[in-house]
Amino acid sequence: MAILLDGKKVAADIQAGVKEAVAELARGGVVPKLTVVLVGDNPASAIYVRNKARSCEAVGMGSQVVQLPGTATQAELAARVDALNADDGVDGILVQLPLPGHLDPFDILCRLDPAKDVDGFHPRNVGLLQIGKAALRPCTPAGIMRMLDAYAIPLEGARAVVVGRSDIVGKPMAAMLLHRHCTVTLCHSRTRDLASVTREADLLVAAIGRAGLITAEMVKPGAVVVDVGMNTLTDEAAVMRFFASDAAKLKTFREKGSVLIGDVDYHGVLPVAGHLTPVPGGVGPLTIAMLMQSCVTAARARRGMA
Ligand code: NAP
Repeated sequence: MAILLDGKKVAADIQAGVKEAVAELARGGVVPKLTVVLVGDNPASAIYVRNKARSCEAVGMGSQVVQLPGTATQAELAARVDALNADDGVDGILVQLPLPGHLDPFDILCRLDPAKDVDGFHPRNVGLLQIGKAALRPCTPAGIMRMLDAYAIPLEGARAVVVGRSDIVGKPMAAMLLHRHCTVTLCHSRTRDLASVTREADLLVAAIGRAGLITAEMVKPGAVVVDVGMNTLTDEAAVMRFFASDAAKLKTFREKGSVLIGDVDYHGVLPVAGHLTPVPGGVGPLTIAMLMQSCVTAARARRGMA
């Protein structure tokens, strides 16, 4: 039976470290501040933004939400980003994605001051990560690396398979694992015979966005399996397929009409894997903890502190 990788616990440890670093900065008169730019009224984005503001508060950092209407133009959004870049009191800027369809996210990400780009999405930071130089790094894969280290998962020489090639998770994850001397394979929707590739993985990272796609037959016995996916199941047949024996999930489904599921068939894979992240409570909490960490890193770097 797999050992569970407890993302909440690792996130709490990261957060404790950040709190200490923030207190230290405060003694020198610096209060790091994160600004989140939110365009439109996507309810999921509004929840994420609120959670980020709460997390800032919890570690003693300042936070601010710049809210623009869903009708904002590219030029209006660009002007706000320019103003935040120029504001010396702002250490971190995060543009909440997705933006409304008429706005070009790439243009906006390119506009961010790379020194304040706490998501690590600016092409300069993307490039620095690729060549293994210090940079602000995407929070989800950076958090996963912290968790793998917290559990002393051996990486050097390990065969790592990342499923999903997004710019925010899959690609930076692959780069980070490569820099730690894994032999990395990056899979996607056109990968032929995905199961034959995933079965070779000592470390399997699933960042796909497909409920329970990774099944027991796709996992090498003893492998470390990291489930990044966050999918919502509302169909009762699907819930029963994955969670028939899980009283807690079934109760949640009865009460809320939906349950959260990762990209891994948790109950199927649990007896096969060596380590496994649960959903929720695995990768999710790490992402936000690393965002706080990024903000402190940015605040220190902007002031020439190591
Ligand atoms: P994304 O941009 O939609 O990318 C999904 C990737 O999965 C794509 O590369 C796609 O391939 C690949 N894919 C789709 N179907 C596949 C299949 N049947 N076989 C193999 N590969 C397949 O997603 P994302 O933003 O990386 O997010 C992935 C998941 O992680 C989502 O559930 C998201 O909610 C979750 N997430 C969680 C956190 C967290 O903090 N826990 C953070 C970020 C994301 P193509 O490139 O060929 O289309």
